[in-house]
Amino acid sequence: MSECLFCRIVAKEIPATVVYEDDAILAFKDIFPQAPVHLLIIPKVHCVGLCDMTPEIATAVGRVPEVAIRLAREAGVVESGWRLLTNCGPDSGQSVFHLHFHLLGGKSLGGKLCQ
Ligand code: AMP
Ligand code: ZN
Repeated sequence: MSECLFCRIVAKEIPATVVYEDDAILAFKDIFPQAPVHLLIIPKVHCVGLCDMTPEIATAVGRVPEVAIRLAREAGVVESGWRLLTNCGPDSGQSVFHLHFHLLGGKSLGGKLCQ
């Protein structure tokens, strides 16, 4: 059994509210939402962050923007605005070390940072 939280969500060992899934990508609701819309989009194959991507993972991650647009549209925030971001390493505040992209929207998100 993997010790990685998001690998365990991919394996359905830990429940999550899944909003999108295909062969390489999973998206689910963040458990501690920072905005009315707060989704996490992840490659199913484990890697810590952007700097650790294999070519296979990079191919999957290349499709993240298209998935994010689809989810933003479904969440009704395409017109109001939304943000897609990933945290890499200690100064970013990354807390789960499986590459993931936050999709945030549904309120004014302020400047460059969420808070
Ligand atoms: P980061 O700080 O960029 O590593 O983001 C990790 C995100 O994972 C945070 O926004 C957490 O709220 C979220 N999170 C942690 N555990 C879970 C979980 N079991 N299901 C969904 N989201 C989670
Ligand atoms: Zn993982």
